[in-house]
Amino acid sequence: MGRTSKDKRDVYYRLAKENGWRARSAFKLLQLDEEFQLFQGVTRAVDLCAAPGSWSQVLSQKIGGQGSGHVVAVDLQAMAPLPGVLQIQGDITQLSTAKEIIQHFEGCPADLVVCDGAPDVTGLHDVDEYMQAQLLLAALNIATHVLKPGGCFVAKIFRGRDVTLIYSQLRVFFSSVLCAKPRSSRNSSIEAFAVCKGYDPPEGFLPDLTKPLLDHSYDPDFNQLDGPTRIIVPFVTCGDLSAYDSDRSYPLDLEDGSEYKYTPPTQPPISPPYQEACALKKKGQLAKEICPQDCPMSTVDMLPQ
Ligand code: SAM
Repeated sequence: MGRTSKDKRDVYYRLAKENGWRARSAFKLLQLDEEFQLFQGVTRAVDLCAAPGSWSQVLSQKIGGQGSGHVVAVDLQAMAPLPGVLQIQGDITQLSTAKEIIQHFEGCPADLVVCDGAPDVTGLHDVDEYMQAQLLLAALNIATHVLKPGGCFVAKIFRGRDVTLIYSQLRVFFSSVLCAKPRSSRNSSIEAFAVCKGYDPPEGFLPDLTKPLLDHSYDPDFNQLDGPTRIIVPFVTCGDLSAYDSDRSYPLDLEDGSEYKYTPPTQPPISPPYQEACALKKKGQLAKEICPQDCPMSTVDMLPQ
């Protein structure tokens, strides 16, 4: 497999490089904006879980006209600098990070909070969905501190079994909540985006970081919402339906007749978690895969020999 094979398999990955975006995710935000005009009138925005930074690139280009917008980007991982984007490295589920973000918006709230956060998926769907929901709730908690009334919140969501509960929690704070699937998000993925407009917290609600929305005392039956507590939010696909299909492979020479030329990634990761493994592999010091015939699962010993 050559370096062009990913370009063939994933047209949005290829287009992202060719258009100077740091990640294919840029197209998801652009397609969400096409449908929901997210950036209209926005001058201050927060990008949670932002690395490597393609959503921040989109935000800084689209909001506030001639570079007068204000974007704060937050991620666990270090992110290469971007002009006009203030960066905070931290965990959005931690109080200290939340406080650091909030202090940038005191007296001058944000119009838009976006969160494309994803946990390192384990493949255990219930665990992954739970982790994803925790990230979303941490983002919502931060949003309740920084959003102006009428503001907008967009967050990645996994459409799992208990997603109805999350919709209900979001509806408490926003006048409109719906679930959107941009064309560039693969059909095969349970990922979608909650698009929440019209920030309108309940009367008397006081944002309080010491009481996060992460309430672990729910009765397990509470998830089986029915009656007036059951909220069914509209599901919208967005992005031109004749746009490239993210689940298809495309020939390298696209229909517009232009000749294919390989483009390297716009911004390679500056400190990826797999850096040490790559260095060991280069020196031939990564142990071989151990997979005894009678072992039900493949076990990889990643320790140096
Ligand atoms: N929107 C980004 C872009 O366009 O470049 C891509 C985001 S990537 C899909 C998900 C990000 O979530 C990762 O960079 C990861 O480090 C971050 N993340 C996961 N858990 C986090 C947490 N608890 N706090 C901050 N960032 C987190």
